[in-house]
Amino acid sequence: MTEDNYKQRGLRNKLVSKLRLKGITDEAVLSAIAKVPRHVFFEDALLSHAYEDKAFPIGEGQTISQPYTVAFQTEKLQIKPGNKVLEVGTGSGYQAAILLEMGATVYTIEFNRKLYEKTRDFLPMLGYRPYFFYGDGSKGIPIKAPFDKIIVTAGAPIIPQTLLNQLTEDGIMVIPVGNRDAQKMMRLIKKKEKVLKEEFNQFAFVPLLGAEGWNLSG
Ligand code: SAH
Repeated sequence: MTEDNYKQRGLRNKLVSKLRLKGITDEAVLSAIAKVPRHVFFEDALLSHAYEDKAFPIGEGQTISQPYTVAFQTEKLQIKPGNKVLEVGTGSGYQAAILLEMGATVYTIEFNRKLYEKTRDFLPMLGYRPYFFYGDGSKGIPIKAPFDKIIVTAGAPIIPQTLLNQLTEDGIMVIPVGNRDAQKMMRLIKKKEKVLKEEFNQFAFVPLLGAEGWNLSG
């Protein structure tokens, strides 16, 4: 299942060409996508879809994000080797693998216990070793802060102030913000006295839960 052959590599190169056509230009992002074997994150029944530019179910009602979404969000983060990055929403671990390929140190937190355990056990087998955390990432990881970059991979109702507080000066957070069905990708750059805000395209993420996310019980 974890085998990576010339056919898979060929499909990945095709995917990279597609992402270029869709406007992704950061070569470091594209080369990470060309390297990470996305098909090993898929169940056998869905294997043939691994290199389509689509999101897919990974169990527990969650999804592995669409490659374009991963590429877009990662490009906006302006990752430099050595950056200390917080990822909220570990999910399959694919996004974490991309960040690690780019030379970042990755702290990733997941709120779903089963997914946390599954990915914590699986991802290191591929040679990808982020620091794994279990819990409500909408509050960040205070004991590991500050971070150079924060990427939120679930749709938030608001920009969590707690996360902004955990950014370094000149730190960057990329987060989809909106309602349950659609969110605008936002980039926040933390300056000494203010936070610069930019808005980009619309995306559809699974909801960010927790203290600064959606309360789905009510
Ligand atoms: N980055 C993932 C995609 C994640 S899908 C990947 O590359 O596959 C969004 C994930 O966010 C889901 O796994 C969901 O369980 C998780 N999540 C939702 N709310 C969260 C929270 N408050 N803290 C941490 N994880 C959360």
